Amino acid sequence: MMYKSTRDPDIRLSAAQAIVQGISPEGGLFVPESMPNVSTQLSVWAELDYKSLAKEVFALFLSDFSAEEISDCVERAYTTEKFDDDEPVKLVPLTEQGRNRYLLELWHGPTCAFKDMALQILPQFLTKSLKKAAPGKKAVILTATSGDTGKAALEGFKDVPDTSVIVFYPQNGVSPMQKRQMVTQDGSNVTVCAIDGNFDDAQAAVKRIFTDDTLKAEMGSGDMLLSSANSINWGRLLPQIVYYFYSYFQLYRNGAIKSLDDKINIAVPTGNFGNILAAYYASCMGLPVNRFICASNTNCVLTDFILTGTYDRRREFFATNSPSMDILVSSNLERLLFALSDESCEAVAKYMRELSDTGVYSLDEKTIESLQKSFFGGTCNDVETLQTIKKVFTEEGYLCDTHTAVAVNVYDQYVQQTGDTATPTVIASTASPYKFTSSVLSAVDSCKCADEFAAIAALERISKTKAPAQLFSLKDKPVRFSEVISKEQTEDFVRRSVRIGGV
Ligand SMILES: *Cc1c(COP(=O)(O)O)cnc(C)c1O
Repeated sequence: MMYKSTRDPDIRLSAAQAIVQGISPEGGLFVPESMPNVSTQLSVWAELDYKSLAKEVFALFLSDFSAEEISDCVERAYTTEKFDDDEPVKLVPLTEQGRNRYLLELWHGPTCAFKDMALQILPQFLTKSLKKAAPGKKAVILTATSGDTGKAALEGFKDVPDTSVIVFYPQNGVSPMQKRQMVTQDGSNVTVCAIDGNFDDAQAAVKRIFTDDTLKAEMGSGDMLLSSANSINWGRLLPQIVYYFYSYFQLYRNGAIKSLDDKINIAVPTGNFGNILAAYYASCMGLPVNRFICASNTNCVLTDFILTGTYDRRREFFATNSPSMDILVSSNLERLLFALSDESCEAVAKYMRELSDTGVYSLDEKTIESLQKSFFGGTCNDVETLQTIKKVFTEEGYLCDTHTAVAVNVYDQYVQQTGDTATPTVIASTASPYKFTSSVLSAVDSCKCADEFAAIAALERISKTKAPAQLFSLKDKPVRFSEVISKEQTEDFVRRSVRIGGV
């Protein structure tokens, strides 16, 4: 399988090259040259455990990797030790009162958010890709984070040979627990820095560095190359395809769907459009999907886009209680546009130019139609998010985090508007409720707590659940990183840290 760019029709790369480069030089994103169709394999795949299924999916897309290499990546990434169980994900029915919804818990990894599903394996893909595509080079992983990617990248890459990681997070745009997770990070090859701005500022700064030829040349002469752990990297998206197939087969095995051509809906709390795009790719490969339900918080640029066909980022930015979705420029939407516009690089390059020049672009009628046929969009504000947490807790005895609650709420909107109660729906549950303890606690109880850790104890008591040990143990961990810079200083910070880091 070769890869091409969404903006330049002449680019062709191997999987290893696409993973090492992260983003195409002209700013486009790498996509597979064609989508493999697995419809006839579903009955065989339905029998597989998670790791075996992952190997099957990866083999289709990483054709320059041997079967042994792929197996090695998977076995190192999804260990019982890292994911508290043999199967790294769990499907939990929320089916009281005849409802037809299932939460796909994707947060049993080391950092308690779904990002671990990809970021535990990306370092494996990347170190093997480096050997193939850029022997002798060391990778500097640059990452902008709205909270969860940063920590997951740090955990995934810490002490991985021939790599170093630099994470930029918006100073006031992450939860107290997310910040604490990052600033206390251990590992000899990691750096963390706050940016005085929001996530879009951090993401734009990182993207600028990726297209900065001077900086790249400087690094190249030191045998370093830049790569990305953001979901613009194909190696981040690919692992996410697996769990949508897996959840479908779970529904089949527990009888919620009767035959392997029954359709499901997939609802995803969305920020950068990575997780929901992986679901879309799974359907392109033959997973039977009726509708993708794209759930946004108050930063509802995607909901408006799905409703109107116009993407307009010229709007106020809100810091919400689902901070990992506080994004106005959803990078991976570019890959969807590419697919919806019959893979026209010309059309995609035009949309992206309009977006960067004017902050807005509009699809043509035909493309709007195909967008709306597959996608339902809805918005859930902070108050509704807390009400949803409370409702799910009261009615189902289940505690969900703020991001997951946004998706549950928008799924309910979908049911109300379409009347579709029949189609079983997988809702991506993207973080542990303990990652956003203060918000979640405020939804189910009125007690005031002295700090985040007192809140954890209170939430454990009220919900009769146990907080993940890796979060509670942060209490006594010393802070290692406290620097804050302006968004203009990111290039210099990178120069300084790769030298200081001595990578
Ligand atoms: C990153 C994140 C999201 C958004 O995922 P995208 O792939 O960026 O759309 C949703 N919820 C949580 C908890 C996250 O960490």
